[in-house]
Amino acid sequence: PATETDVVVIGAGAAGMMCAIEAGRRGRRVSVIDHARAPGEKIRISGGGRCNFTNRDASPHNYLSANPSFCISALKRFPAQAFITEVERRGIAYHEKTLGQLFCDGSSRQIVDLLTDGLSDVGAELRLSTSIRDIEKTGNGFLVTTDRGSLACRSLVVASGGKSIPKMGATGFGYDTASRFGLNIVPTRPGLVPLTLDPALLERLAPLAGVAVEARARHGRIAFEEGLLFTHRGLSGPAILQISSYWHEGDEIELALAPHLDVFAQLRDARAANGKQAAASLLSTILPKRLAHAIGERETGPARLADLSDKALRRLDAAVNGWKIKPAGSEGYRTAEVTLGGVDTADLDSRSMQARSVPGLYFIGEVVDVTGWLGGYNFQWAWSSGWVAGQFV
Ligand code: FAD
Repeated sequence: PATETDVVVIGAGAAGMMCAIEAGRRGRRVSVIDHARAPGEKIRISGGGRCNFTNRDASPHNYLSANPSFCISALKRFPAQAFITEVERRGIAYHEKTLGQLFCDGSSRQIVDLLTDGLSDVGAELRLSTSIRDIEKTGNGFLVTTDRGSLACRSLVVASGGKSIPKMGATGFGYDTASRFGLNIVPTRPGLVPLTLDPALLERLAPLAGVAVEARARHGRIAFEEGLLFTHRGLSGPAILQISSYWHEGDEIELALAPHLDVFAQLRDARAANGKQAAASLLSTILPKRLAHAIGERETGPARLADLSDKALRRLDAAVNGWKIKPAGSEGYRTAEVTLGGVDTADLDSRSMQARSVPGLYFIGEVVDVTGWLGGYNFQWAWSSGWVAGQFV
């Protein structure tokens, strides 16, 4: 016989645990099921072990979605400050790294503990190492069959996350469940992911592997100014991860490697002051040496600045600050921090995260077609969407 409960949450990640705590606070009997051995594994490994748990400035424009307005309601009712208050109440020390990104001073485990203690405090049950066998709609709710017994519930919350890092147990479970219940899925793809280059370009850039520079990466009208890293496979670093979420196969991106400098003016002045030097030697005053040499060598070789025309200087300027590049692909879900796309927000109520056509069924967190920028925005979406669902289940 099935165990009777009010709410079953599938996925003991950031969103699922937040939702379960809120539902428990409202007096609901809650069971959280996860196939992993430990809860909150992605929280644990996040932010290099310090968990970038939110972004002080999180607002709807930091998110990608087919419907950019969908996230407004949840972010308004449970904003970054609401989670910061929880963190402070718990006495977890934190710091702002850059651009509003908040990290634990100690360890990301403190955030996991905050959540698991929260579950205990409200009497929510956590069932780990448990696999879902089947989900059926019943007259007044759902029957969830697992390899360790069945649960009958009125509300079912899918918080099983995206497809990134399959090695850590990510599956397509949430998307399959949504499809089975007739919800539309916005096509998924890896986001916040390093980009790869075709072999010819990669060979040319091979000497640059390991070079890092503060750069601007642009795709159409959107641009990010953060670190960029040349790797053995292509391009990485925050600026690239950010722009990767906007990039589609075949698109071009534009890089500015010294975004705040008028490189043409610098070259022209240097030509007047000391025309004997090669372009590479001037460039190495504004760029990492290896990068300066690669660009200088490629564009003008050993020629002295004095022998270069304005046109040649403009070409150098464009090579530094208007470098158009067509990535070959991305490194995929293996290394992606998030999954773009997911459960179509058109099929969900933005106030409660409930499926419009299936009363009692909810989707929260990364499985939904709402994806944040790099910098704490994805956890904030997990907290906000989990919190609002917790008020309704
Ligand atoms: P998850 O946290 O992924 O939780 C989903 C849970 O569901 C998991 O516990 C999983 O085991 C379980 N599950 C999946 N399938 C099943 C199934 N079939 N049956 C039962 N259980 C299942 N975001 C930030 O904001 N800041 C960061 O610092 C940050 N760092 C990151 C670092 C890395 C390496 C990665 C990969 C991601 C990072 N992210 C970060 C993104 C962030 O981790 C996710 O956006 C967030 O965890 C999503 O929360 P969620 O609750 O929706 O899903």
